[in-house]
Amino acid sequence: MTLNAQPAASLFIGGRPVEGEGGALPVLYPYTGEEIASLREASAGQVAEACRVAARAQPAWAALAPAERGRVLSRAAAIIRERNEELSRLETLDTGKPIQETLVADWESGAQALEFFGGLAASITGQMIPLGRDWAYTRREPLGVCAGIGAWNYPSQIACWKAAPALVMGNAMVFKPSEETPLGALKLAEILLEAGLPAGIFNVVQGRAEVGAALATDPNVDKVSLTGSVPTGRKVYAAAAEGMRHVTMELGGKSPLIVFDDANPEHAVSAAMLANFYSSGQICSNGTRVFLQEGIRDAFLDRLAERVRNVRMGDPLDPATTHGPIINPAQAGKIRAAIASGLEQGARLLCGGPGEGAFIPPTVFTDASDEMTITRDEIFGPVMTTLGFHDEEEVITRANATGFGLAAGVFTQDLTRAHRVIAQLQAGTCWINSYNLTPVEMPFGAVKQSGLGRENSAAAIEHYSQLKSVYVGMGGVDAPY
Ligand code: NDP
Repeated sequence: MTLNAQPAASLFIGGRPVEGEGGALPVLYPYTGEEIASLREASAGQVAEACRVAARAQPAWAALAPAERGRVLSRAAAIIRERNEELSRLETLDTGKPIQETLVADWESGAQALEFFGGLAASITGQMIPLGRDWAYTRREPLGVCAGIGAWNYPSQIACWKAAPALVMGNAMVFKPSEETPLGALKLAEILLEAGLPAGIFNVVQGRAEVGAALATDPNVDKVSLTGSVPTGRKVYAAAAEGMRHVTMELGGKSPLIVFDDANPEHAVSAAMLANFYSSGQICSNGTRVFLQEGIRDAFLDRLAERVRNVRMGDPLDPATTHGPIINPAQAGKIRAAIASGLEQGARLLCGGPGEGAFIPPTVFTDASDEMTITRDEIFGPVMTTLGFHDEEEVITRANATGFGLAAGVFTQDLTRAHRVIAQLQAGTCWINSYNLTPVEMPFGAVKQSGLGRENSAAAIEHYSQLKSVYVGMGGVDAPY
């Protein structure tokens, strides 16, 4: 291994690194395919042990004053910021994403979540309900043990986005990163411990789908929060239902980005590029169906074709690189198959194509129709499908004609139209004259098949806690017998 990212051990249980007793889990650098770490999966016994340890540790953590829990998260955020460079390099090795991105978008976003929920801790309260002589109050209580299951595109951000609201509410967590990107969550476990988190409150197990499935049905697990694809979401939701467990599902999408004639073309092109090519297109909320009104279509496509030439594909550790490799050959193969299907079904390439090896260049289809596979299915790669439209009503109907409902964007200078259109789009997270910005202050989540629950913002607290109602009798008890 010339690039060595070997952690102390594969798992983190009860406040210490523990070696996995399951199958081998090699970690490959997507750019070169070289093995940068050699991990082992958790055995079934270790998954159960991690959940038991979490369940044992959780009550004492929940008994602390919320501000004390908040301070631990705030300290963790500070440690992440101090080590951002080293952590971002590891993220780049784990995911293949350009260092230019990981330095600003991954651990930094995780730090923001820890900072936000750490700061929120002391202000989370219940309600006092006056009832005349009597009264009632509510307590917001933790759920217990939360299982977090992550995807490979933003592994450390996903771990932080799930851990921060869960931990601040007094829950414990057992987190399983994607088998493709197992390294960041282990760093988060170390950092949280260093920040003062008690042993056993944040645990990491590694493994493939069976490990995720074991977590979703473990008797000690009270909630499952998954970031992944819609098919996996269906399975995990069903498995969690058997134990009446709470769920958060952050799943896939095929989101519309609607550009009206009066839009600022330069900004609309910037947004469409970010919404399709950032992280080599491996982003759930991407605006992959770009609807262009007839009057702006040609100018938009001309400028897009020009600006795609500025994309620098190459070594992810080179700070000048803006376009990295795809996570693994299997995913690259799926993207290439999608590109081939677009061509077979009659769409035309404005730029890009299948590329070579680990790289797929920014690819833009024109002359696509709503029925084509490239317009209907999530590709999870740098592939933009552009579609023409005439009027507002038509584009709203077409934008909503999908089972997905994660995100949507509208570009127009007409404010009334912007809000009118957004109100009719079936999506959980929307942008006007912007795209894919997900500040921690704003709830993030989906409608329809793209999931349920919300991450980020105070709204996430509701998904990592439950309400207890307490009626307080202040006088005697009247009874008819
Ligand atoms: P997958 O659905 O394949 O996997 C997600 C996670 O679930 C992985 O850790 C995976 O393990 C695990 N898993 C797979 N099968 C099961 C199962 N039966 N029970 C429990 N856990 C299981 O998604 P990808 O990792 O391929 O990520 C890409 C998908 O994630 C895309 O659809 C994308 O849109 C979506 N996504 C959604 C986001 C959102 O916030 N809405 C953000 C990022 C991505 P393993 O990888 O080891 O197989």
